[in-house]
Amino acid sequence: MHISCLIIGQGISGTWLSYFLQKENQSFLVIDDHAPHASSRLSAGIINPVTGRRHVAVWMADELLPYVRNIYTTLGQELNIHAISQKDIIDFFPNPQMRLSFEQRVNEDNQYVSLKENENQFHHSFQYDFGFGKIAPCYTVHLQNILPAWRSRLKKNNQLLEEKFNIADLKIHKHQVNYKNITADKIIFCDGNAATTNLWFRLLPFAPNKGEALILEIPDLPPTHIYKKGMVLVPLATPHLWWLGASYQWSFTHELPTDAFKTQAESTLKNFLKLPYKIADHICGIRPATLERRPFVGLHPVHSQIGILNGMGTKGCSLAPYFANQLTQHLVHHTPILPDADIKRFSSLLTRNA
Ligand SMILES: Cc1cc2nc3c(=O)[nH]c(=O)nc-3n(C[C@H](O)[C@H](O)[C@H](O)COP(=O)(O)OP(=O)(O)OC[C@H]3O[C@@H](n4cnc5c(N)ncnc54)[C@H](O)[C@@H]3O)c2cc1C
Repeated sequence: MHISCLIIGQGISGTWLSYFLQKENQSFLVIDDHAPHASSRLSAGIINPVTGRRHVAVWMADELLPYVRNIYTTLGQELNIHAISQKDIIDFFPNPQMRLSFEQRVNEDNQYVSLKENENQFHHSFQYDFGFGKIAPCYTVHLQNILPAWRSRLKKNNQLLEEKFNIADLKIHKHQVNYKNITADKIIFCDGNAATTNLWFRLLPFAPNKGEALILEIPDLPPTHIYKKGMVLVPLATPHLWWLGASYQWSFTHELPTDAFKTQAESTLKNFLKLPYKIADHICGIRPATLERRPFVGLHPVHSQIGILNGMGTKGCSLAPYFANQLTQHLVHHTPILPDADIKRFSSLLTRNA
């Protein structure tokens, strides 16, 4: 079988890359082993335009927000699923200093933050003493709907191989690659953290980050917003289910959920949520983050048959569609990739053991 592109991984990166290649009428095959703890299967799906205690706009916020709203809406319509919802963040101030700092941001004309006149409206559900601010627009992307629906589409079109890709079986030729009975013009790795051990890309400055979260049943909480106080409480697509998290650990000795996180999450809830809840699950995964917090997109400087779409860090839901589209345009129409994301910036590193 000869195809244009072999894609390794169907997390959010491989999903969007295959989506855009299909739009360009390219032939492709996705190989995915459906790892249950892959980041994309654990993500809360939040798209938040600001970051940190100072609520500064995230990288490319003004461009990414309208782009992702439109593209996920289109994908939802094409697959006949609910793919994205607007869920603004209600940010409860933990102390008067944080309130003051938020007020300063509002006065500086930060377009994404505002204060509400009626600050009593959430007292029925939450305990809070210093009011709250609102961050908008924010979105939740329903990966629990998107990934299986896209997988079914790939299967139906015979574009998915459900197995583990074994790099030892990959043969690199001058202008193509060969894997078992498949020849492809390009192979693109969208394999999340597995790339940290990949012969061609392991020298890239990855910085894997561990994240834990609880899945809660909260039948009496209306799923109108994302709520934040210490941790973030996010409504999931399944009615009554909420996601509470997450931890951010740069240094860890294992990839399993910990009692320490569960205790911390329950203590947060005790001081925050007034409604009854049940813990349905405790999940844990490793974010494919990077040292300089920018994704890795593009073709290897020596082996241009091999490419990567990875390093989405904490922002896979917004970065993956945007850069999957850029990579597709680059592959098909030779348009440039944004220099901040293009792996060309690591050319000297990547040529070292090529
Ligand atoms: C707890 C947690 C919360 C998060 N919350 C958010 C959030 O709210 N918003 C946000 O934008 N981001 C969030 N993220 C980050 C986001 O999940 C990631 O940026 C994103 O999912 C990365 O997607 P990916 O497709 O690049 O990699 P992955 O999701 O890791 O997908 C890789 C895929 O490749 C497959 N694969 C790997 N190796 C092989 C192989 N050898 N053979 C076959 N298949 C293979 C795996 O099975 C998997 O399906 C969160 C992450 C975590 C852990």
